[in-house]
Amino acid sequence: MNPADMTLADWLDRVGELSGEIMPLPVREQMATFIQMLQAANRNINLTAIADDEGIAIRHILDSMTLLPLVDKLQAECPQPISLVDVGTGAGFPGMPLKLLRPACSVVLLDALAKRLRFLDTVIEQLRLDNIRTWHGRAEDAGREDGLRGRFDLAVARAVAPLNVLAEYGLPLVRTGGLFVAMKGRPESEWPLAARAVKILGGELEDIRQFTLPGTDMQRSLFCLRKVRTTPNAYPRKAGKAEKQPL
Ligand code: SAM
Repeated sequence: MNPADMTLADWLDRVGELSGEIMPLPVREQMATFIQMLQAANRNINLTAIADDEGIAIRHILDSMTLLPLVDKLQAECPQPISLVDVGTGAGFPGMPLKLLRPACSVVLLDALAKRLRFLDTVIEQLRLDNIRTWHGRAEDAGREDGLRGRFDLAVARAVAPLNVLAEYGLPLVRTGGLFVAMKGRPESEWPLAARAVKILGGELEDIRQFTLPGTDMQRSLFCLRKVRTTPNAYPRKAGKAEKQPL
């Protein structure tokens, strides 16, 4: 089919084909509602630069879904439904598609920008989602807060900061034994710079999964960091420090 003639429903079919994920009808409907709410809200507030049906379906939804094998792998290691925090979620990526596709997970969508979280609160309410909430603030502050620090089985982040900075945002939130997955484009140069920070913060590089986003020529890398030790109390440092002076 000519992409110009494709409707949102066609693009969601395409996401299903490209991912190999069977999306049950109610989930598909929720996904479509989320996308339509995002497009409507984006006309008034800046939530995302990518707002056409194809862009949202492929570059936001399908891209977020590339984390599903890791979510499932971690879930297989845990007796309870896993807890997940999306650090710098923006308009809900990757956290919202992951919640819709794996509804048993408990999810925190964290961001420093309140207007994006207000939009996500309306989505949570409209779709009547359970076990998902937004948290407004800086990741560095979340990482020192009881109830968030060391509490998550899985932290994820896309397009938030370079890996050496991001490690200080994400690793403190993960429990020992859990995973922090940083979604990157083609960041071959990022690991050597981040290795020291990851070690200081109690992490270890488990894997770098590299692939092309299906149906596109976009390179993707998933940095999988396993938390092997408790993060020392000195970290995360006060808000802004990681960015100005990465470990
Ligand atoms: N993850 C989303 C995506 O891939 O579409 C949003 C990416 S957007 C480029 C980066 C987001 O990270 C912004 O919404 C910003 O407010 C948030 N952010 C950046 N630094 C942060 C920090 N230290 N703590 C919390 N949120 C942060």
